Amino acid sequence: MVNRHQPFESWIFTSEELSGAESQALQEHLQECRSCLNLTQALQGMESHLRATPLLSPMPGFTARWETRLADTLLRQRRIQTFWVMMASIGGAVLLLLLTGWMILPLLRTPLPILLAWAYQSAGVFTYIRDLGQAFFTASGTIFNLIPITLWVAILVAMGSLGALWLVAYQRLTIPRRVF
Ligand SMILES: [Zn+2]
Repeated sequence: MVNRHQPFESWIFTSEELSGAESQALQEHLQECRSCLNLTQALQGMESHLRATPLLSPMPGFTARWETRLADTLLRQRRIQTFWVMMASIGGAVLLLLLTGWMILPLLRTPLPILLAWAYQSAGVFTYIRDLGQAFFTASGTIFNLIPITLWVAILVAMGSLGALWLVAYQRLTIPRRVF
């Protein structure tokens, strides 16, 4: 037995445009077939419901607004991050300077007046500079010997960290992002 609802059911579900004759035949069938009419109405009701649901069809401008908000958030986050990275770097640099000064100062206090007095006595600018350089070299050697190796490692690590932090900050400030 031939299904009397065909090809009308197929025509109801198809997304393609029906020809004039097909459309005419479908309308005639719908007037005498309750089943196909119900199907058509149910399908139309579902389609209008889908169109009215915001989740399935985003309002115009929604995506653009969301992207703008994301860009704003990212910019704000990056500014805060950059600020704290800079604060940490400055703080670290100051701490490092204070630490170095605190370690060098006692060493400078003793030899410097002696060196100056000796320099005045020698009264030769060239030898003064040369000896000052030599003194500096000796002092450097002394400092190096006085500071335990673990502290040097700590200072190197601190300097390395600062360098890395600055590199990150520099990168964040200079490299343009796609969102802008
Ligand atoms: Zn039918």
